[in-house]
Amino acid sequence: MGGRFHPLGDLQLADLDTRGAPRLYVFSGAGLSAESGLSTFRTGDGIWTHASIDEVCNYLTWRRNRAAVFRFYNERIAESAHAQPNAAHRLLAQWQQRWGAERVHLITQNIDDLLEQAGAHAVTHLHGDMVSLLCTDCDLRFPKATRALDPDAACPECGRAASVKPGVVFFNEAAPEYAKLHRLQREMTDDDLFIAIGTAFEVIPPERLLPSVRWGAHARNLLIDPAPRCDAFFGVVEASPATVGLPKLAPMIARLMDAA
Ligand SMILES: [Zn+2]
Repeated sequence: MGGRFHPLGDLQLADLDTRGAPRLYVFSGAGLSAESGLSTFRTGDGIWTHASIDEVCNYLTWRRNRAAVFRFYNERIAESAHAQPNAAHRLLAQWQQRWGAERVHLITQNIDDLLEQAGAHAVTHLHGDMVSLLCTDCDLRFPKATRALDPDAACPECGRAASVKPGVVFFNEAAPEYAKLHRLQREMTDDDLFIAIGTAFEVIPPERLLPSVRWGAHARNLLIDPAPRCDAFFGVVEASPATVGLPKLAPMIARLMDAA
């Protein structure tokens, strides 16, 4: 099997155990959770305009809008309280349980925890989440203690509350998990599978995810989206919602993952 050469420095112990076996990288966007009833406020459709979102999701101004910021996210948390993982979340979680987190990498732009609710135990949230708080002075992320985000929650490190914000990554804020995208691009071989689900590639284009040797319609680049964009990068395109397209591709994915 024609894997790319890994510089020794990139190898982790987990990689050594599974070398030669294809890995599965799943990159998801709002379309994955849309069928669970979560509004895609970040893309500005629905009732949220770009102007109102900028007021509550901007790292440069959040401190002066602090009360509105917490109110906004607590409204989103209340809205999503009854959202359930859908068939696509469950299938992805099953795959991670079946082939292990060393082989199945779940990378999402979504801030909900529906993948975790479905049983996934290692999810990279590129844009943060709604279950943690971040102290901007200490750069410390800590779990929320109550269902809602408490605006008076003090940082466990410095004891201050004023510096604490919701754990969602705002516009103009550093997104530390993006470092994983560079690693993904370096380590992805020709045999690995890459699936993009429900993303318009507006924030992160395929060029930032795939190694350049896989630009173009690579047979193991798969795309599932009811309105597919950037489809020239994908050898397999399923123009359907996640809960339809993913089960359809599941037998092929299982065959390739088990072929190692
Ligand atoms: Zn602190």
